[in-house]
Amino acid sequence: MALYVTAAEILEKAERKQGALKTLVYDSKFPNIKQLFALVCETQKFSSVLQEIIESTKLLKLTKLKMPLAKVLLYDLLIGQGLKCGGAWKANMMKHRPRLQAELARMKVRRKVSRNEDLLPAGSPADQLPRYVRVNTLKTTVGDAVDYLKREGFSYLGQAVRLDNLTLKNKDFLLDLHLPEVLAFPPNTDFHDHFLYKAGHIILQDKASCLPAHLLHPPPGSHVIDACAAPGNKTSHLAAIMKNRGRLFAFDLDGKRLSTMSTLLLRAGVSCHQLANRDFLTVDPDDPQYKDVEYILLDPSCSGSGMVCLRDRSPADQEEEKARLAALASFQLRCLNHSLRFPRLKRLVYSTCSIHSQENEEVVAACLQQNPDFRLVPLLAQWPERGLEPLSQCLRASTTKTLTHGFFVAMLEKVSDCRGIKKKPAVPVSEAELVPPAPSSDAKIPEATEENSDGSDAEEMLTSAVGEINDSSNKKRKRKRKRKKKKATKAE
Ligand code: SAM
Repeated sequence: MALYVTAAEILEKAERKQGALKTLVYDSKFPNIKQLFALVCETQKFSSVLQEIIESTKLLKLTKLKMPLAKVLLYDLLIGQGLKCGGAWKANMMKHRPRLQAELARMKVRRKVSRNEDLLPAGSPADQLPRYVRVNTLKTTVGDAVDYLKREGFSYLGQAVRLDNLTLKNKDFLLDLHLPEVLAFPPNTDFHDHFLYKAGHIILQDKASCLPAHLLHPPPGSHVIDACAAPGNKTSHLAAIMKNRGRLFAFDLDGKRLSTMSTLLLRAGVSCHQLANRDFLTVDPDDPQYKDVEYILLDPSCSGSGMVCLRDRSPADQEEEKARLAALASFQLRCLNHSLRFPRLKRLVYSTCSIHSQENEEVVAACLQQNPDFRLVPLLAQWPERGLEPLSQCLRASTTKTLTHGFFVAMLEKVSDCRGIKKKPAVPVSEAELVPPAPSSDAKIPEATEENSDGSDAEEMLTSAVGEINDSSNKKRKRKRKRKKKKATKAE
């Protein structure tokens, strides 16, 4: 019962724009977040189909249910895994099941389709994305996973050579062209009940979300921080790359997400990790236990605007959205600046599942401006979608150009670690003395989450940082020349 009541409340709130679906799910404190999230996402996906059935069968009048509750119950009754409640609701829905099923069947006949998925509104991007699966190399090999799936009737087409190879049908699957442990299947292939998934041999992870750990690539034995880690897909990917050797410090502010993460890491066979329920911004970079940290993965809370299933169907209040993005960007910049304070840091990957430049290029540009000893590393030359100019070293991902959810990745490296070769920074970041200092991350900060973060000082630095960067550094150069001239005259 509680599952359906909570799911219905969340759908109602999401419709009234009271928060992003993902956040509403986590905020609900429901004991089985995964189950709730799946139900809410799927019901929203099939919302128009369910509404049509409800209206044409007059279900609300017959059952006295409200629309959101009717939708979640109907989803599980007709499309999902069957009703998971008893009592009056179940009896009521079961009574009307024959007419509801008949209406669904009539819809399929009218639209000349056989599968429920084919009833979804045409062009819904989520339903056209391949189902990506990351092979967990801590538990198996890509070869063994492929053989297992072949034995089960899937047909393996080898490694993709072009992006359009990833448009798959029936039981076909292939190895991705960019990421060596990622397999691609036709859209909506369901692995939730599959042995390989339940045993932790495969992880259901979008291809774009596999980029951060793949690009950071910490060697086995290294010391690594995953700053905002839960629910831990990227942590388990890092551990696989590190072959479970070294130390992987994983922080998250949300205890509930962290405990889900702990279960997932156990299932994935991860053993080199150390979880901490902590605000990353309060972690002391000079604490001796982090003295050997050379790699950081920072995947902070973001608007989630790249997640196709979470995208709002109608635009939210513009002013509210602007303020929310500014607060998120401010938090993201603080995390980024804080990460760069770890004394032995060599490389850091920053990622978001947002499509807004305010949370992506603008955060990175502002950070580079405040940290001139770091520069951008050009990423995957063969990747088809780049960061917005001038940050083309970064990667973007989207449903249209990369057949993934929307995503952004940047990699920063310490300039002094480039074997003594002082290369040109990715964006003009010289003359640091003229740039206002980065906000101290020791300062007391309010709790930062996707929905709630402070909009403080760093925010100003963020505003159109990308656009202004060239202009401001020209001015700075002029001022520096003037100062030099003045000094020289004094010396004379
Ligand atoms: N990297 C994760 C993965 O791949 O599974 C997803 C991370 S999610 C985008 C962002 C996470 O940051 C959330 O779990 C949130 O609880 C956490 N978070 C937000 N503010 C934080 C803070 N100040 N310190 C640590 N974690 C924080």
